[in-house]
Formats: sequence, C-alpha cells, structure tokens
Amino acid sequence: MTEFFNQVSRRKFIVTAGISASAVLLKGCLGNPPETGKSGSTSTQTATQPTANINDAQKPETTKAKLGYIPIVESAPLIIAQEKGFFAKYGMTEVELSKQASWGSARDNVEIGSQGGGIDGGQWQMPMPHLITEGLITKGNKPIPMYVLAQLITHGNGIAIANKHLGKGISLKLDTAKPLLTQLKSANTPFTAAFTFPHVNQDLWIRYWLAASGIDPDTDVKLLTVPAAQTVANMKTGTMDAFSTGDPWPYRLVTDKIGFMAALTAEIWKNHPEEYFAMRGDWVDQNPKATKALLKGIMEAQQWLDKFENRQEAAEILAAKKYFGLSSPEVLANPYQGKYDMGDGRKIDDKSMAAYYWKDEKGSVSYPYQSHDLWFITENVRWGFLPKDYITNGAAKAKELIKKVNREDIWQAAAKELGIPAADIPASTSRGVETFFDGIKFDPEKPEEYLKSLKIKKAGI
Ligand code: CA
Repeated sequence: MTEFFNQVSRRKFIVTAGISASAVLLKGCLGNPPETGKSGSTSTQTATQPTANINDAQKPETTKAKLGYIPIVESAPLIIAQEKGFFAKYGMTEVELSKQASWGSARDNVEIGSQGGGIDGGQWQMPMPHLITEGLITKGNKPIPMYVLAQLITHGNGIAIANKHLGKGISLKLDTAKPLLTQLKSANTPFTAAFTFPHVNQDLWIRYWLAASGIDPDTDVKLLTVPAAQTVANMKTGTMDAFSTGDPWPYRLVTDKIGFMAALTAEIWKNHPEEYFAMRGDWVDQNPKATKALLKGIMEAQQWLDKFENRQEAAEILAAKKYFGLSSPEVLANPYQGKYDMGDGRKIDDKSMAAYYWKDEKGSVSYPYQSHDLWFITENVRWGFLPKDYITNGAAKAKELIKKVNREDIWQAAAKELGIPAADIPASTSRGVETFFDGIKFDPEKPEEYLKSLKIKKAGI
C-alpha cells in the first residue's frame, strides 16, 4: 500500500453508554412520492424512544439535523435510524428526514443548507459530494465543501429494460443484442437509456455495462436524465428502452409487467460501492460530536438492516406512504432476501446478491474507502466529465480532492466510540484491486493504467 491509502492511525476508545428510557420527539418531513411527483407535505410524528445516557465528552452540540433522502433502498439506514430510535439514542432527538423530489432538488437543497430551508446533508450518489465541493454542479459554480462520512449500501440496483425488447438478447452481456441496437440507431430511434442524475452511479453503471460489450454509450445509444418519478411512466408509453435506479423501482417494472431486468449491479461489480452519507463541511466542522452521533445512529441501523430476520419489518417500514409509498412491502421484501424475478425467465435466489448495509463478502460496507472515491472520479475522467489531469501525474489532483472530501477519519472515530471491534474497522483506506464482470481490473494505485486498459472511453488517455 502507498502512503496515500495507508494513513490510518488507531486509537482505542472504550465506550459505556447506559440506556435510559425517555420520550423524545421524532420529526419527518415528507412528501413527493415518486409515483405521482406531487409537491411535498410535512407531518410530524412522536414516539417514545430510548435515549442514551450520553457522557459529556460525547454530547452533541445540537440535537437537530435535516437530512435529505430519495425513496430507494439506499436511504434505509437513515429511515431505520429515525424509526428505530438510533439517532435519538445518541442524542440526535430532532433529526428531520426530508424526501427529495429528485437528485437535482437534493443538490439545490444542500446548496442553501437547513438555515435557508434546505438540508444539511443526507444520501448521495457518487461523486456528487466531490462535484459539489469543486463547484462543478452548483449554481454559479460556487464551491461548497462537503464531507463523505459513510457508505450507505452495496447492491440493490439494477438495469431495467422495456418488455418490447424481451427475447432480443439484452442481458448482462449484449453480444447478441448488437444488431438490434445498430438497427434502432439507423432507424433514427436509438436505444434510449435513462438515469436519475448525470455523471454519477446510475449513469456510470449503464455506461460500464454497455461499454463492456463494445457499445459506445456516447454514439451507439441515447442517454438522458429522467427523474425516478417519470421512469415508469416513460417506459409504459414506450419512449424509453432502459433505465437504472435503486430498488424497488426496477423490480416494480417486473411485477407490474412493464419491463424486465437485464442485470443487477451486483452482477456488474460484486460488492460494489453504491450510495453514500455526506454532509455539508461547515455543518460537520461546527458540529463534530453531532456528526459522530449521526454516524453512530446510521451504523447501528446498518447492523440492524443486515440481519435477515429484520428485513420483513424493514420492508414494511420503508413501504409506508410517508417513505416509499409502495402498494405492498413485498416488492422490497423479495429483493431484500436476494430473490429477484428478472422478468425474462431468469430467477435469482442468492443471498449474496441482496443489498448489504454493514458487511459484505469483501468486508465493511459502511466504511467509505477512498479507493472507491477514486474509481468514481476515474470513471468521470473516462467519459470526459472531468479533465484528465485529475488522473494523470499519479492522480495527484484526484487524491487531493478525495483527501479533502472523504472523512473516513470521522467514520473511524465514531466506530470506536460505538465499540465496533477492531476487526470490523478497515486498516487501509484502499480496498485494493477491484474486478468487474468483464474481467477488467481497477487497481487504485494505477488509475491511469485502468483507463488505458479500457477500449471505449472519451478521455484521450
Ligand atoms: Ca443507486
């Protein structure tokens, strides 16, 4: 390991938190169910929750935080931390969860912060926190420092295809589907695939999947941004051939008999980094103890979510109208057990393909590996979204940005306060070499070599 990826210092904290029961107020800012796209409403909910007898050294500076989320499985640690009282347990008794109509709204709301009626942070696709920090996707290109604090989830995402393409070879590998894509392009009706925000996870999953089969996402197909709310409707009316987003939306296409699943992201990259918890840097700097309290609540929720016996209850909590607004929790409960009806005759029943929140086959899910930030930035360079100087010269520019944004040190401090065993706290900021379904390897020590090894790319590397 190089110095960049091996900067972990270890200190042991011994934490004893006595639990006392007290009534606390939990708030939820709700609205914008994705099916309808209606404007938001707010409701408040009270509940009796255990509150930790927090010692003075760990007492948060504030009991309030406003966190944005999108109604997909990635947000479950935030919702479960709220509903099961894990935020309150660490002193964050006035957390407000705010459902975001789209990723663009989440970005707009974090730009203004909770003081301006927005949010302090929440759930993000990658590398949104880095792009916001750099001022690349903000109004007037204003840099707004953000800190990545934890990974929320692995897996739980897929690529859905309209039913009209059933039986035409569109699957994880696309070799037999190439003539169809060529024919659609020459007929001036190119294969159209959608994601929910440009340059981040879903866009990158679609691009990786297409390019691995020799299809150039910039010239052979049409890619566009569509809010999750409209994806199902657009597929119903036949104006869209494919989209990628988090469960339960792709799976709903199957159960509603509108589409099928070409691939799970778990098939594209097993145990891949998915979405993250990140906050405004100024909020974290002003509230370091409250940040750790939020993290401890999220970590406890992630551990609770990973117990398969809790997943039916999790599906019921998330399905509620105020959160995901699902007609039945079953569209979540099955994928949560690794059971996917892909809709094209293929069935997956494999717990290792399910969503994980705390630990997977590779180790920690929650810990934000800096090597994963580097992959997301490298893919942005690959497709020409970021200039190549982020990755050339030993990726010095990317690493400098990651060092600023990725605060794995705060994750570690919170994990130690929580009493997480040393074996569950990664010893390096790199997870090492990653392997994709097409055999391509990403060595975080050599991102430029990775780009050179890829046949289809926009960057002149
Ligand atoms: Ca996602």
